Amino acid sequence: MPPGILVEGGVLVNRDGRRFVDETADIAGMVHPVMAQPDGTAWVVFDARIEDLCAYTLEVQALRDTGAIRNAADAAALAAIIGADPATLAATLTATSPDPFGRDWQTPPQPPYHAVKVGGAIYHTQGGLQIDGDARVLRADGSGFANLFAAGGAARGVSGPSYWGYLPAMGLGSAITLGRIAGRSAALA
Ligand SMILES: Cc1cc2nc3c(=O)[nH]c(=O)nc-3n(C[C@H](O)[C@H](O)[C@H](O)COP(=O)(O)OP(=O)(O)OC[C@H]3O[C@@H](n4cnc5c(N)ncnc54)[C@H](O)[C@@H]3O)c2cc1C
Repeated sequence: MPPGILVEGGVLVNRDGRRFVDETADIAGMVHPVMAQPDGTAWVVFDARIEDLCAYTLEVQALRDTGAIRNAADAAALAAIIGADPATLAATLTATSPDPFGRDWQTPPQPPYHAVKVGGAIYHTQGGLQIDGDARVLRADGSGFANLFAAGGAARGVSGPSYWGYLPAMGLGSAITLGRIAGRSAALA
């Protein structure tokens, strides 16, 4: 599910038809609230406007090709797909002003709805080899190897000890920057 679907207005509801998070608060860490739901699954609910805004992504094309996107004329039809109580789901989809989770809304999804069932998965990791400021790989005792350098996905990230430190473009930014530093350090070694 491309992040843009949530950013542009998609919502997450659990199998009980209830939202459980500000979907835009922490896109990189969204797996955690999803995994905490019954069955560890949720439904991403969106509409044609939101889907069109993200139609350029390979993920949306794959969702279309695989038939993963379910269509519902209204909240009652969507509730039948999810297995939720229709009244609960209808209330969830209209209770966005004020938003119970503090989401700063542009436009919530409008019927007819689209929905995709999602689970949690590791997207990518932030870990790697410990390096110093010259991108030189460090031993466990902190001493540096003379001729071993690491950068990008092979090196430790700058996101801190957990997912909450991730910022957009952190992966490519550190890969390019550390790659340059590692190359220069290797040339001087
Ligand atoms: C799904 C996903 C989405 C992401 N989205 C973003 C994003 O929006 N913004 C962002 O900044 N970062 C993003 N990242 C992270 C970013 O892609 C990585 O941090 C970055 O690509 C790391 O660059 P790299 O050059 O270190 O490694 P890579 O890009 O993984 O390049 C390593 C290359 O080495 C090749 N290789 C491996 N072994 C060998 C071998 N033995 N011989 C020859 N070649 C070999 C591989 O095929 C690969 O081409 C995303 C990552 C994933 C998985």
